[in-house]
Amino acid sequence: MMDRRLLITSTAGLFGIAALRWLWPSQADAASEKTENFAVKKSDAEWKAQLTPEQFNVLRKEGTERPYSSPLNKEHRKGVFACAGCDLPLFASETKFESGTGWPSFYRPLENAVGTTTDRTFGMARTEVHCSRCGGHLGHVFEDGPKPTGLRYCMNGLSLAFKPSANSAS
Ligand SMILES: [Zn+2]
Repeated sequence: MMDRRLLITSTAGLFGIAALRWLWPSQADAASEKTENFAVKKSDAEWKAQLTPEQFNVLRKEGTERPYSSPLNKEHRKGVFACAGCDLPLFASETKFESGTGWPSFYRPLENAVGTTTDRTFGMARTEVHCSRCGGHLGHVFEDGPKPTGLRYCMNGLSLAFKPSANSAS
């Protein structure tokens, strides 16, 4: 008896979710549960005042920049790539590699620098990557990267601000 009622309840729940996604696919997708409590919190108006419209679209609306559009693709100096929203250091230049995708790519973030959620837009499950301090969207991580991690952090250059090391020779 219990089992049957549970089954009906959960089936109804599934239909409800399916209907919601059908009616409002973009909102449902956008709600990719970023449940962390971010240390840096700002309203859209505050972010808009601070960021360029292109940065706002990527960092706060999970947009994607055009491939090969970021000058950071060709950034090969020693230094750190920080969050363009809150300045938190995210990636060391030593972990950057040429992925051929047209987006700045790294095989490992700095410790505790990023968080992830599951992104189901475009009918596939991808792992979304965001700044752990302000929640700003950075890009996605894929499992086809180089050694030693085998991961490819595919980042939007617009989400990043490069800080060359003080003693960087080139
Ligand atoms: Zn940030």
